[in-house]
Amino acid sequence: MIGIIGAMEVEVENLRSQMENPAAETVSGMEFTRGRLRGQDIVLAKCGIGKVFAAACAQTMAIRYGVTAIVNSGVAGTLTTELHIGDVAVSDACVQHDMDTTAIGDPAGLISGINIVEIPADKELAEGLEAACRRTGARVRRGLIASGDQFVAGEKRLRIIELFSPAAVEMESGAIAQVAYINGIRFAALRVISDEADGSASVDYPTFVKKAAATSSAIVLSWLENFKG
Ligand code: SAH
Repeated sequence: MIGIIGAMEVEVENLRSQMENPAAETVSGMEFTRGRLRGQDIVLAKCGIGKVFAAACAQTMAIRYGVTAIVNSGVAGTLTTELHIGDVAVSDACVQHDMDTTAIGDPAGLISGINIVEIPADKELAEGLEAACRRTGARVRRGLIASGDQFVAGEKRLRIIELFSPAAVEMESGAIAQVAYINGIRFAALRVISDEADGSASVDYPTFVKKAAATSSAIVLSWLENFKG
């Protein structure tokens, strides 16, 4: 069983509408839909915004649905000049940029307990998603995706770039990656750029979020079609 997580309705609606025999249930206020999509058994969830909802969703996928792989599909701001609105970031690894115990000597982003900063993505999943991007004609870069409980725009981006040099910034994948890691579940994130995470983000994001989310869903469909397990 494959889990697919999107934070917002716009990130899951195109996938849900194409599922065969969908069976929906609500767990912890989140909507989970089981069914077939492009020949695969999947559970699709809309988790809500931010790391706490994302973690709760991924943990539910682990213990209630027994997923062996999770893909997070959605939108993000870019933190590299190599990616612009409509381009795609596929995770090599995820970091939580707001995890910060540096005051007592730890490296920025360290997740104490598992003691890592960057949680690596499953290589095969990431390669499969990258190949799906190329099939659909999207410009794609593999790289680090940074998550935190803030919408990053303007000056806020500078600290994150300085510390982590990520390709993209958003609010969920780092939490899903951590939950996948502690449960031994394969994971990768796919994020289509909705904004430059700069001073124009408040205008760019609402303008491009729907199109970026639709692109991400189209790539997931192509990935599922070719996924061999
Ligand atoms: N109240 C709004 C909040 C949206 S937050 C709502 O409920 O729709 C923005 C979402 O898009 C998050 O899920 C995040 O993962 C992603 N995102 C896109 N651009 C981002 C940016 N520049 N910084 C942080 N998250 C971003």
